Amino acid sequence: MNDLKKDLVFFVDLVRAFLEEEKKQPITKAIPPKEVGHKIDVKLNEHATNEEEFQIILKKLILNSPKSATKLFYNQLYGGRQSKALIGDFLSALLNNSMATYKIAGPQVNIEKEVLDSIISIANFGKKASGTFPTGGSMSNFMSLIMARDKFNPGSITKGVEKKLIVYTSVNSHYSVSKNVSFSGVGRDNIRYVGANNKGQIDVKLLKSQIKKDIKNGLKPFYLNATAGTTVLCAFDPIEKLIPICKKYDIWLHVDGAFGGTAIFSKKYSKLLKGVGQADSFCFNAHKTLGAPISTSVLIVKNKEHLNRSFNNEASYLYQTHDNDYNLGQTSFECGRRNNALKFWCLWKSVGKKGIEKIVDKNFYLADFARKYIKSNKNYKLYSFEKTLSVCFNYKNFDPVDLCTKLYEKNKLMVGFGKFKETTFVRLVTINSENTEGDIINFFKVLEKFTLENPELVKKISSNEE
Ligand SMILES: *Cc1c(COP(=O)(O)O)cnc(C)c1O
Repeated sequence: MNDLKKDLVFFVDLVRAFLEEEKKQPITKAIPPKEVGHKIDVKLNEHATNEEEFQIILKKLILNSPKSATKLFYNQLYGGRQSKALIGDFLSALLNNSMATYKIAGPQVNIEKEVLDSIISIANFGKKASGTFPTGGSMSNFMSLIMARDKFNPGSITKGVEKKLIVYTSVNSHYSVSKNVSFSGVGRDNIRYVGANNKGQIDVKLLKSQIKKDIKNGLKPFYLNATAGTTVLCAFDPIEKLIPICKKYDIWLHVDGAFGGTAIFSKKYSKLLKGVGQADSFCFNAHKTLGAPISTSVLIVKNKEHLNRSFNNEASYLYQTHDNDYNLGQTSFECGRRNNALKFWCLWKSVGKKGIEKIVDKNFYLADFARKYIKSNKNYKLYSFEKTLSVCFNYKNFDPVDLCTKLYEKNKLMVGFGKFKETTFVRLVTINSENTEGDIINFFKVLEKFTLENPELVKKISSNEE
C-alpha cells in the first residue's frame, strides 16, 4: 500500500485527468455542502479501503473540487498557475525539510535566504534587513505588529502589554489587522480606523490629527498598517506621505502589500509603492498575483534585530549545529515550518526577475483592458480606478450580490462582490497573468449571456441611477 513509485503512476494520471477536466469544465458543478457525502465517499472507516476503490474515490473528490486556475476563476485575489512554482511546491512536500535549522534543511536554507535577500535588495531595505516566509499575509501582518509592540514596549514580552499602545490603519485595510491587534494583547479598542479618500487611500490629514489627539490624551501611537493594494479596490496608500509622519511620531510603519506589493517587481508600477524602502516592514503574497501556490508569503524587516527579539528562542533540543543566521527557526513564528521559498525560487530562477516583472505588468494591463471594455459599454458602471488590479462594476440594474451568487450556483463563473463606502459591486480581479484579452472579454460575455438568458433569475436593485 505505502509505495510511492506506484502511487506516482496514479498521481500523474490523476493530474492529467484534472487538467483535461479544467479545459472541459472550467467551472466545477457546485455541490451543496450537505450533499457532498451523498456524491463522494468521504467517510472514514475502521478498515482499509481497497486500492482501486481508493483511487476512484480520490479522483472523484479532485474532479469535484472548485478549480482555481481556470480562465473563469476570478473569485479570490489569486488564480492561475505557474507550473515551475507548482513543481517547487511538490518537491517541498517530497523533501519535507522543516525550515527551522540548517541541519535539517541544508541548502534549502540558502534558497530561502536568496529569495529574501533579492527582495530586500529590490525593496531597498538595506544591509541590516532580514525576513521570513510566514504562512500568509495575515501572519505577516501579525508578526510585524508583534515586532512593533516589542520595540515600544519590551516589557510586553515578559510582563504583558503595559502601555496604552495605539494602532492606526485605514478603514479599507484587511480584516486581519483587527484580529492581530486582539491576539497581540493591544486590544481592539486601541485601533484607530482612519477614513479614506474617494479612491480608497488612507486620508493623511485625518491620520495626523488622530495621532495628535491620541498623544494629547497620554496614549502612545506605535504602529501604522498601510496597505499597498487594498483588498476590495486595490488602492495604494501613499507611503511617501506616511514616512515623515511615522518618523516624527516614532511609529512603526508596516506596508501590507499582500495583494499589490508585487508591483515592486515592475519598473512601471513600483511607483505605487514609492518610499517603501523607508518602511520598517513590508510583506507581499506571491500566491496572489504571481501564480505561485498558496501560501507563498514574504515578510521583510528593516532591522533584523526586531525579528530576533520577538521570535528567537532557546531550544537545545532543536538548535544543535550551525550559526543562528542559518537556523531560520530563530526568526520564524512556527517551529516546524514548511519550505514555502522553494516554489518562489523555482519560478524566479526559471523566468528571471524580468519574467516576474512581465507577470505583474500583464496583470495591470488586463485590468486596463477590462476597464476599457466597461467604459465603452453603457450597460456597465465602473467604480474603480486606474493603476489597480481591481475592476469593480455593476451591470445594468442587476443586484451584484445576487448576480455573483447565481453565476456560481449555475456553474457559469466564479467572481465575487465587494463594497466601498455605500456601494456594492462585482469585483473582477486580474490576478491570472496567463489570461488573454480574449479571456477577459469572455468573462463579460458569460455574464451578459447569463443575464440575457435568465432575465428573471437575478434580483434587480431599485436605486440604480440609470
Ligand atoms: C489577502 C490579503 C491579506 C491576507 O493574506 P492571507 O495570505 O490570505 O492571510 C492581507 N492583506 C491584504 C491587503 C490582502 O489582500
